[in-house]
Amino acid sequence: MKILVLNCGSSSIKYQLFDMIADEKVLAKGLLERIGQTIGVVNHTSIGKDKIKYDTPIIDHTAGIEIIIKLLLDKEVGVIDSLSEIKAAGHRVAHGGEHFKNSVLINNDTINEINNCIQLAPLHNPANLKGILAVEKLIPGLPQVAVFDTSFHQSMPDYAYIYGIPYEYYENLKIRRYGFHGTSHKFVAEKSAKLIGKNIEDIKIISCHLGNGASITAIDRGISIDNSMGFTPVEGLIMGTRSGDLDVGALLYIMDKENLDTKQANDLVNKKSGVCGISGISPDMRDLENAANEGNSRAKLALDVYAYRVKKYIGSYIAAMNGLDLLIFTGGIGENSMYMREKITSNMEYFGIKIDQEINNNTKGKDAIISTNDSNVYTVVATTNEELVIARDTMRIISA
Ligand code: ADP
Repeated sequence: MKILVLNCGSSSIKYQLFDMIADEKVLAKGLLERIGQTIGVVNHTSIGKDKIKYDTPIIDHTAGIEIIIKLLLDKEVGVIDSLSEIKAAGHRVAHGGEHFKNSVLINNDTINEINNCIQLAPLHNPANLKGILAVEKLIPGLPQVAVFDTSFHQSMPDYAYIYGIPYEYYENLKIRRYGFHGTSHKFVAEKSAKLIGKNIEDIKIISCHLGNGASITAIDRGISIDNSMGFTPVEGLIMGTRSGDLDVGALLYIMDKENLDTKQANDLVNKKSGVCGISGISPDMRDLENAANEGNSRAKLALDVYAYRVKKYIGSYIAAMNGLDLLIFTGGIGENSMYMREKITSNMEYFGIKIDQEINNNTKGKDAIISTNDSNVYTVVATTNEELVIARDTMRIISA
């Protein structure tokens, strides 16, 4: 059964075509960028064939998905003979609000509800919806499934998601913590529990998804009870260009002093902050690690601040769950940066967290247990695969 997974951003579309029967094999994947600009970029790879990259105008998401379909059907670079081979499309949808507690089959009602969530994620949900409507137009009748970044965290208790502001803002505007990266946290939690030979329902897990965006989740016996991202994905950890936790008073003060409007303030905390803002060098950990090694003190400071914030969240989630059995690192940084994993987990023996330095140094982009044999807490590196989760959910839902 072939399933097309789509992750539509405001100016990009990431896609993968899975064959779920043949060992969940990826048949083709790609990325379209600069949608809506004068010249767009198409990157496509079909299994066993050369990568393709070319420039072409991509006026909107429908035009983008049309290009993807043509590439998949292409006699030379394609991987299918007919569109009827694709049995369903699965979409990543950023925000499901309080309505979506699970992935769902898309119909008129779900489209209306995703529309209602646009006010909660004005940067992401409109693009996700455009992708859904484009597929509906181009492949009429194809079953489509929406998989939400927020739904795994809908199990959070109210005391974890209510902010300390007048309650009517929750009632009227739905201002609360939602949490994000749910698909990734759920995926790595399940596979890491298996890796250490435990049942997820018996253990307490902290999952650190450290990528360009970063969040950390407390998972108590399989249930997400807290996530560091909040009403929007800007709260919590320091990220590449996002500030993470910030005194709202400081932001108001800067807005006042610098005469910033809300759009400029939004850009400040989302695009100009994080390790990029602190270091003044780059949002990329590799650049910062190199610069710090060469003696750049602001790069070193950015790394110190980053690691300290993750460490603080780990401590607070151990308190929230009254214990910890399994600590997981995933995302581009979590999977690849032995330096950052070491920095975060150093001096945590009090909590029973001990890392085997040699194993840690040899673990890059692969699943592994990196804790010592006498560590009370298993620490693991687990590669994430959000597209695969979307494909699996899509298959489960259309098969039901
Ligand atoms: P996204 O959130 O966009 O999916 P990723 O999870 O792919 O991002 O993470 C991207 C980040 O991973 C990069 O910005 C970089 O900081 C980090 N990264 C990737 N490889 C390495 C590495 N070898 N060492 C340190 N950091 C790395």
